[in-house]
Amino acid sequence: MTGEVQARGIIKRYGNTVALNGVDVDLHAGQITLLIGPSGCGKTTLLNMIAGFEEPSAGTLTVDGEAVHGPDPRRGVIFQDPTLFPWLTVWENVMFGPEVRGENRAAAEARATELLRMVRLWDFRNHRPSQLSGGMRHRAAIIRTLANDPQLLLADEPFTGLDEHTRRRLQSDFLTIVQRTKKTVVFVTHNIEEAIFLADRMVVMSPGPGRIKQIIDVDLPHPRNILSDEFNQWRARLYNLITPDVIEETME
Ligand code: ADP
Repeated sequence: MTGEVQARGIIKRYGNTVALNGVDVDLHAGQITLLIGPSGCGKTTLLNMIAGFEEPSAGTLTVDGEAVHGPDPRRGVIFQDPTLFPWLTVWENVMFGPEVRGENRAAAEARATELLRMVRLWDFRNHRPSQLSGGMRHRAAIIRTLANDPQLLLADEPFTGLDEHTRRRLQSDFLTIVQRTKKTVVFVTHNIEEAIFLADRMVVMSPGPGRIKQIIDVDLPHPRNILSDEFNQWRARLYNLITPDVIEETME
């Protein structure tokens, strides 16, 4: 299993703002790690550094022992807005990455076929993104990233802003895909329920300046029932941990 992330003494400054103030953490290969905390605690900053979009101001960040300098297809990123080429079909979108990298065509096609079947998009492979529902576009974008067979899957609030029903369905699909493809995942959210539903491990962060508050292993068996007593106990625990750190938005 690959995708082990090691952060040591990470500091990130933007001018006078200290976005992260000394982050030390190991994110384990084969696990789904959730970065959770209120807005402004540095979740996206940390994820962007793992993706290679940002460099730390101080400290070291490695993936499988290699320092991160710049983006790499071995680290696949899923954004909030599904990134698909509108002029290509679903199949062409999914095959784009492997083709650009000159991957063995038969192997890439076999993987793309399996992934599209897994998320019920096989019958829609010749559709263009504009012909898909919002949920389908999200699933296609996830598959497009996975088609590159990344060792690490990085997701930044991918389901925020969707209606509740679609969001729940996508969370469930996401879990199935990740479990079947055995990916290491780092997933950013500010949504407590989403975090409890998905996480093997949670890195709870707090703002002003951004830092790690607590690291928690989540031992609930899957599938997790969001209405169960155990789930509710987790919800209360996380709520009590995070709510005191929510900085009031002031009206100017
Ligand atoms: P989160 O994802 O937890 O909401 P962010 O990582 O987006 O937090 O931001 C952490 C802090 O760093 C915030 O105070 C934010 O305003 C600041 N910040 C993030 N990116 C930039 C940037 N490119 N320029 C200036 N400040 C930034």
